Amino acid sequence: MVSQGSNLPAVGLGASEWAAQVPQGQQECLCHATKSGNVARGWVDCVHQRLEAARMGGMATVVEEGALVTGDERESVHFDVIIVGAGLSGIGAAYHLQKELPKKRYVILEGRKAMGGTWDLFRYPGIRSDSDMYTLGYRFRPWKEAKAIADGPSILNYIRETAKEYGIDRKIRYGQRAKRAEWSSDEGKWTLEVGGADGTTTRLTCDFLYMCSGYYDYAGGYMPGWPGMEQFGGTIVHPQKWPEDLDYTGKRVVVIGSGATAVTLVPAMTDKAEHVVMLQRSPSYVLALPGKDIVAEWLRGKVPAGLAYMIVRWKNVLVAMYLYQQSRKHPEKIKNWLLGLAKKALGPDYDVAKHFTPRYNPWDQRLCFVPDEDLFRAIKAGKASVVTDEIETFTEKGLKLKSGEELPADIIVTATGLKVQLMGGMEVWVDGQQIKFPKKLAYKGMMYSDVPNLVSTFGYTNASWTLKADLTAEYVCRLLKHMEARHYDVCTPRMRETDIQEEPAIDFSSGYIQRAMDVLPKQGSKRPWRLHQNYALDLLEFRYSNVEDGTMEFSRVKKLAEAGG
Ligand SMILES: Cc1cc2nc3c(=O)[nH]c(=O)nc-3n(C[C@H](O)[C@H](O)[C@H](O)COP(=O)(O)OP(=O)(O)OC[C@H]3O[C@@H](n4cnc5c(N)ncnc54)[C@H](O)[C@@H]3O)c2cc1C
Repeated sequence: MVSQGSNLPAVGLGASEWAAQVPQGQQECLCHATKSGNVARGWVDCVHQRLEAARMGGMATVVEEGALVTGDERESVHFDVIIVGAGLSGIGAAYHLQKELPKKRYVILEGRKAMGGTWDLFRYPGIRSDSDMYTLGYRFRPWKEAKAIADGPSILNYIRETAKEYGIDRKIRYGQRAKRAEWSSDEGKWTLEVGGADGTTTRLTCDFLYMCSGYYDYAGGYMPGWPGMEQFGGTIVHPQKWPEDLDYTGKRVVVIGSGATAVTLVPAMTDKAEHVVMLQRSPSYVLALPGKDIVAEWLRGKVPAGLAYMIVRWKNVLVAMYLYQQSRKHPEKIKNWLLGLAKKALGPDYDVAKHFTPRYNPWDQRLCFVPDEDLFRAIKAGKASVVTDEIETFTEKGLKLKSGEELPADIIVTATGLKVQLMGGMEVWVDGQQIKFPKKLAYKGMMYSDVPNLVSTFGYTNASWTLKADLTAEYVCRLLKHMEARHYDVCTPRMRETDIQEEPAIDFSSGYIQRAMDVLPKQGSKRPWRLHQNYALDLLEFRYSNVEDGTMEFSRVKKLAEAGG
């Protein structure tokens, strides 16, 4: 059950506190400290004692303050795999891992007190996916609801039900934030410093670290500073921290932004607000899709649900790939088509050229999808409007724009985006050196040059996130099986080629990607360092290519130890 290794954690106890109070030489195991009377009253007992108590029938569940520890692995400190993050990716990763490698012992560390990640955090009105659930859903678990573009609570429910159905919910340790991970080549394992919600620090070790921590900072979204914000007499809200009790009934609302969040919020808030303005510096491409998938509706009841899901999933994958490729090859043609659809939806008198014609080509930034023309309908009904202008200053009563126009507002929503963050803010160290990810090349978009036994999930920018997350999980399982079969302990992508050019990881002009350039790793000009952003190509590569590709270096810890003398 419990690894008797050297790094037993101080469960529920700050590591520095423990180190300071337990005499040198007795810090190896907290048991020793306990037995020798060096642990102050009130400190949580050590893992060994708890096991002892459990054996004697005394310990059923261990619940630490701020950290609900459930399931079979609650006493463990060493794992084959640690997954960080219990969002869409983390739950999917766990499914693949326990299906393909049932003997591997794993745990999911989740920094928040709930699973679901994005779909639990964001609570603004109308929160929904902007890609279809047939591709945002897992390959292994059909999306059965009628809505193709689903609301946040339905997606959260889907994640929760998946976790429950496969017993993954019992593997999650909540309120446990991975703060630092250090790889030791001598030991061939990661040691994680994990912060509890109550301020305690614990240490866990694992052979393989699987990051599913998303791509943005959970602490807060991106908020540009505008002059005069402090004078504004109304309420300023960021969608990432939506106040539960915000009543916008009869209020004048201004939503700053033109991305996916803004186009969702604007029609949703027209249900109660007096009027909603979408204030944008420059427009985005907006494409209306049917809220329900016609093919999925037609197939319902005619073929088994699993088969229908696969058909619709592939149909949507191929349509999205076609649209993306056409946008790249014939940007003018696709641009005219998108603008034509907007004109048709908004009527001949609407100034589509001003409010819906971006300065960039389609798919230079993510397209904004709206279900059933809801944004266009709200504009046509006069409940919402679009203003394309720049903010000069906030005033007491609203906003003054550079054109001189004043926008009165009771509530201003800053739908200005996210702060991109890698590794969930966790520091990564390899043999005493801190890893600077912007200096690293991403291998298959999921591992990093010279960083052993670490995978991080990153979805597509031009298709549903889960398509890539699922493929990544399949690949991780292939990699681990390969290592197990050949008794390898370590896998490390090594950049050996000399003719690889470094390129930005994501070829997007969106503000949040541009702001993140000094955070993101680079991609290379050739395989396996090149990001395809193409599900079909990735599927072939992730599922069928040889894991021994000449770039991935495999080794055994013993060998390393010998080599190191
Ligand atoms: C409003 C919004 C709408 C979106 N809509 C779509 C869409 O329609 N289609 C699409 O493809 N993508 C969409 N995305 C992207 C979306 O984030 C992904 O689809 C998907 O939810 C990501 O899942 P994830 O599990 O990888 O990350 P997340 O959902 O971000 O979950 C990460 C989890 O890891 C935890 N975590 C992070 N750091 C740590 C740490 N250090 N220690 C412990 N736990 C940690 C977090 O608390 C969180 O629970 C949207 C994003 C947003 C913000």
